[in-house]
Amino acid sequence: MTTTPTLTPYDEVLDRYDPVIGLETHVELGTATKLFCGCSTEFGADPNTQVCPVCLGLPGSLPVTNEKAIEFTIRIGLALNCSIASWCRFARKNYFYPDMPKNYQVSQYDEPLCVDGRLDVEVDGQTHRIEIERVHLEEDTGKTLHVGGSTGRIHGATHSLVDYNRAGIPLVEIVTRPVTGTGHNAAAVARAYVAELRDLLRGLGVSDVRMEQGSLRCDVNLSLMPKGSDQFGTRSETKNVNSLRSVERAVRYEVERQGARLDAGERVVQETRHFHEDTGTTSPGRSKEEAQDYRYFPEPDLVPLAPSAEDVERLRAALPEPPSAARRRFAEANDFSPLDMEQMANAGVLALVEETIAAGATSGSARGWWLGYLVGVANQRGCEPRELGITPAQVARISALESDGTLTNKLARQVAEAVVAGEGEPDAVIEAHGWKVAGEDELVAAVDTAIAANADTAEKVRGGNQGALGPLIGAVMSSTGGSADARRVRELLLERLS
Ligand SMILES: [Zn+2]
Repeated sequence: MTTTPTLTPYDEVLDRYDPVIGLETHVELGTATKLFCGCSTEFGADPNTQVCPVCLGLPGSLPVTNEKAIEFTIRIGLALNCSIASWCRFARKNYFYPDMPKNYQVSQYDEPLCVDGRLDVEVDGQTHRIEIERVHLEEDTGKTLHVGGSTGRIHGATHSLVDYNRAGIPLVEIVTRPVTGTGHNAAAVARAYVAELRDLLRGLGVSDVRMEQGSLRCDVNLSLMPKGSDQFGTRSETKNVNSLRSVERAVRYEVERQGARLDAGERVVQETRHFHEDTGTTSPGRSKEEAQDYRYFPEPDLVPLAPSAEDVERLRAALPEPPSAARRRFAEANDFSPLDMEQMANAGVLALVEETIAAGATSGSARGWWLGYLVGVANQRGCEPRELGITPAQVARISALESDGTLTNKLARQVAEAVVAGEGEPDAVIEAHGWKVAGEDELVAAVDTAIAANADTAEKVRGGNQGALGPLIGAVMSSTGGSADARRVRELLLERLS
């Protein structure tokens, strides 16, 4: 019953419409225990082994707030330049869902802990200030697994299983104000914001920010308004987008889908949508046309939060250097231009380049390997560069073998490809394939053979036609399987033919 929607190309849509983005990011805090009980938050345990009466919502159990979670939330708020509330309360958000054992979620409603912040991100040499509306703390829900169907969705499933290990894990929600003025860079700005936020959270040490494990997940809101209008359009809300690449793809897809609808004179439906990693598309979820009434009210079982000014100032003074400042320092130390930095950041290889330099590579070769080659390999494979399976230390080793002449650039790339393919460490790969640069004797023999086999071409070079060298160099490269140093081949040919 689902039909494939018509799409209008991204750039064409953004020639005529202004995009408005909103991002709601959920971060699982890295506390050892849950928000209101002492259960472990360790990822990957057997289902329903990390539960107790509090996080199962059993009658008569009483929650106690985890101080560490409050501290982490304040640190996030401060790092995002927010004001910290001197007094606020948790609220009950009432709705029924099987993975939420109490039938309400303890969250924050009209009294968030942190408000009015900002985070600057840079795309295409332009700084976009992303305003943060609020940062609040809530408990995560459990996880429902729909089984027996082919899609893992409830439709077509024969039964469902619930795991409450995640129920009660502290979750921080970071909500932006509507972001306007991004134009054709909308998708890139959304991605850059989530990337910057992830780096900032990692630097704070408040979460392991593993998008693939769901400890950082993002809802991407998007609407379009005709150019020149200041009236926001109807937005869609794409839920639980789990990688930086997917954030970018979700924005692109929604621009293309909504643009086509508006062009056809249809309206955009206000709804939540699911993102599909395999196709990069979204499909409709729950309609939000009728706002749900969660009947929020202050949580009566918990005391209000009242962080003292001294505590807040102590936390502010202990904040680490922000990622933007660390990047400036790194750029200066390695002589990277602002353009270099932006290209590496956009390609998602900044940290990898840094680690490759730390493993011994020169800054130029580390940048060249990742940006000039491995990013392309990752794109072909449809994965992030870090997921390629080649480590910065391995890249540094290959780079060292190239610069000391053990490998030509071509051979070095073959070695890298073999490492990516899972063949093992660079030195083992070279040994196993017998890959090494052709020695001088081998080269001289190959040059003589090429001259003998291409006597006419060789005669032209003797007559002063340097342009005829190309085919001869090609013949030597091909007979040595690409293991020859092309510059040396050229020198030898010229010696022989002078
Ligand atoms: Zn518990």
